[in-house]
Amino acid sequence: MFRDILVIGAGVLGLSSALHLKRTNPDKDVFVVDRLGGPGQGSTAKCAGIYLNHSTTELNHILMDSTVDWLHHLHDDLGHDLKLAQHGYLYLLDEEEDRKLRGPVSKMQDMGIDVRTYDREELEHMIPDLITAPDDEDSQLMGLKPIVSGVFSGKCGGVDADALSRSLEAEFLKLGGEVSYNTTADRLIVKPEMELGIPGEPFVWQDIHITGAETSRGTVEAGTTIVAAGVWSERLLDPIGFDTLMRPKSRAIFVFKDPMLDGLRDAEGFSSLNVLPFTHIAGVKTYLKVEQTEGSIWLGCADDFGRRYGLEDDPQPERGLYSNNIYHALVKHLPCFENLRPVNMWAGQRSVHRVDKTPVVAPAPGMIYVGSTTGNGVTKSDALGRTVAALYAGEDEVEAYGGRRFRASDLGIEHRRVEIEEFKV
Ligand SMILES: Cc1cc2nc3c(=O)[nH]c(=O)nc-3n(C[C@H](O)[C@H](O)[C@H](O)COP(=O)(O)OP(=O)(O)OC[C@H]3O[C@@H](n4cnc5c(N)ncnc54)[C@H](O)[C@@H]3O)c2cc1C
Repeated sequence: MFRDILVIGAGVLGLSSALHLKRTNPDKDVFVVDRLGGPGQGSTAKCAGIYLNHSTTELNHILMDSTVDWLHHLHDDLGHDLKLAQHGYLYLLDEEEDRKLRGPVSKMQDMGIDVRTYDREELEHMIPDLITAPDDEDSQLMGLKPIVSGVFSGKCGGVDADALSRSLEAEFLKLGGEVSYNTTADRLIVKPEMELGIPGEPFVWQDIHITGAETSRGTVEAGTTIVAAGVWSERLLDPIGFDTLMRPKSRAIFVFKDPMLDGLRDAEGFSSLNVLPFTHIAGVKTYLKVEQTEGSIWLGCADDFGRRYGLEDDPQPERGLYSNNIYHALVKHLPCFENLRPVNMWAGQRSVHRVDKTPVVAPAPGMIYVGSTTGNGVTKSDALGRTVAALYAGEDEVEAYGGRRFRASDLGIEHRRVEIEEFKV
């Protein structure tokens, strides 16, 4: 089987890449394979589906902001029900975090990003369930620091990641793209550029390139292979000596549904939706997401240092992570969680960039890798798909949705040029 372009991975990045490759190359065959049974069933299915646009670096801001506009376009203009809800993103900060982030916040405001701050009294008024400064003996023993301020970012919200994957797949299929599920790429095929037909090829002195993949359904030869296999990309790329600059790390989500949480869920005044924004409690290394369609609240653990790296096929929440761990600090700030237990839970893996936490889109002979998104794959998906299409076309610049441009090589490896993000919680 020969295809002009083979995309390995039907997550949000593989599908976004496939869509933009097919859109800009209507005469080429674009073929997506995934080892699972449908679109977006890998890490994309496990994610919280949050989109955001705040960043102190111009490049990250374009990647996110243009993708947010694209998500609205898919939802509002192209009629895909992404369950998009623009409820904003709120960080609850202690004194030290507040001091550290004042500079980055004013930088983002100067860049024209809709970021505002709330003081402690305002937060207590808008989120009556929140105890900003728990002062009982246990809280002191636990070293909980009072929340002194909130940073709120307005052009942020959530989508249903599953619906997003299906909408990208539908747009791709509409253009004549092809997908094959339950199809595993076992290894990439490496061949010499000029084959001599001698046993033992490729020799070290030959120029080599990737010419497709051996899959569970046979060999797929391809002009260009896109590796968008998420955290599992290393299984295909380590054997050919290509470094993704990424390591996998698990994160868990717990789901709560209880009338005790209705007041918290319906916090007023942050957005026209009158729900609690996506809320990151820095001191508890935890975030909350209201899932309006189910009336539930999702709680994610956002720890980092101390949590192991390591690739897993079926990650599970660590035993006791909620009830023996997060719970003790959470109830001090949000007593409405008292005695509540999750009704559902799961874990997924993030592909954490080892240095600058910014995605990688990098070509090598016959292939392009896209990934290493460090928990931002959904919120940068459209711009990254367009970057893959620009590299395929041999273009130096990427035109993001809405017309802003950036250098494709800035996200690469050889000529990588990425500023360090200053807004870090
Ligand atoms: C708990 C959690 C919460 C998150 N929350 C957010 C969030 O709110 N916002 C956000 O932007 N990001 C979030 N993320 C990150 C987000 O999930 C990822 O950045 C994004 O899904 C990456 O997309 P992907 O297409 O690279 O990977 P995936 O969705 O994992 O897609 C890769 C696909 O490749 C397939 N595959 C792998 N190996 C092979 C092979 N050999 N052959 C064939 N197919 C293969 C897999 O089956 C998979 O479907 C979160 C992640 C986690 C774990």
